[in-house]
Amino acid sequence: MSIMSPISLPLMPQQATLGILGGGQLGRFFLMAAKDLGYRTVVWAPDFESPAFGLADEVIQAPFDNAKAFQRFTSLAEGVSYEFENLPVETLEAMEALGKVVSPSSHVLKICQHRILERQCLQGFNIPISPFKPVNTLAELTQGFEALGNQPCIIKTATLGYDGKGQGRITTVADCGSVFASLGGEANAPYLLELVVPFVREVSLIIARSAQGGVVTYPLIENRHHRHVLDLSLCPAPQLSPKTEAQALAIAETLATGLGLVGVLCVECFELADGSLLVNELAPRPHNSGHLTMEACVTSQYEQQVRALCGFALGSTALKVPAVGLQNLMGQLWASSGAEPDWGRLLHQFPEVKLHLYGKESAKPGRKMGHLVLTGADYRTIESTLASAKQSIGPLKDFE
Ligand code: AMP
Repeated sequence: MSIMSPISLPLMPQQATLGILGGGQLGRFFLMAAKDLGYRTVVWAPDFESPAFGLADEVIQAPFDNAKAFQRFTSLAEGVSYEFENLPVETLEAMEALGKVVSPSSHVLKICQHRILERQCLQGFNIPISPFKPVNTLAELTQGFEALGNQPCIIKTATLGYDGKGQGRITTVADCGSVFASLGGEANAPYLLELVVPFVREVSLIIARSAQGGVVTYPLIENRHHRHVLDLSLCPAPQLSPKTEAQALAIAETLATGLGLVGVLCVECFELADGSLLVNELAPRPHNSGHLTMEACVTSQYEQQVRALCGFALGSTALKVPAVGLQNLMGQLWASSGAEPDWGRLLHQFPEVKLHLYGKESAKPGRKMGHLVLTGADYRTIESTLASAKQSIGPLKDFE
């Protein structure tokens, strides 16, 4: 849905180089979309084994505070994007000061990488969130827990947490001391303390805003997690009420325009029993649940990010199919078989299933190694076929 008429802006010329910070699967798919639209690419990532490296025209392997790497990256990249939040915001600010187009901007990243700033921003926009308290000390934690009504709470480090890391659950005031200590105490402050939300499911809302102000939203995606890591996604989220959809659209418009967003942003939400949404987290980038947009939507979330970065109008987010499912493939599938799974067998047995492997060298439990996608007409078939396809890879040994 477009909210403003386009104005003419300088567009990134084809053959310009687009740079991405971070070399995981999200970066890898961004590079593919950038190539499809005719751009050259450079990826800067600290990890030697970055899956995106093999696809880029230029590769810089160095920490994000390395001055030489900064110089080289900025001498190549005209437009800059990133694929995860845990980046030094100063690096993006310095790129903007050099006149680089950074999408989403350092301002958006700064808010999204700090849970307390994020909550305060959402509150400022009147977007529903769980009641919270910022906490620095054990005394503040105890007071905060009492101020939130002595109800079950979750405490989260304000920065650097992901996939449930850096979090603890507090059920009674007696838990405060041990949970605070287990997270590292005052040394890892500040923390966000918030009420546990009695959600019925988790959904992601992927939105994008162009430089001209056009806002688009993807259909809501239902996400199921296994040990805090995304396991299965279904889109459009089954049995979604029109009221929930309308609220999602309103949240998207408010956030995209309020933040001055240019680029893709994922809003992770809790859906309550009455169908209303509470926002949990913002990720200013494509999202792992949104891999399914590659098969299911007219414009993938990655192409959308390239379009926004380069100053183009956004593409249609319409679904091309009635329904789609995504099954993540975690490292424990590899560990259980002791070797690379037999992909030939999977492709032979499930010709309608799409396989994406990220090219990660070492398979660790809980590590996202690849995913399967199946489009179709009904969720039950999609879910059961994806489950069978995953099982065909090997017996799943769980991990602690
Ligand atoms: P996060 O790192 O904030 O995305 O949290 C990771 C997971 O923890 C979420 O996907 C939820 O399953 C759960 N979680 C986080 N915050 C809450 C909350 N306030 N109430 C209930 N569950 C939560």
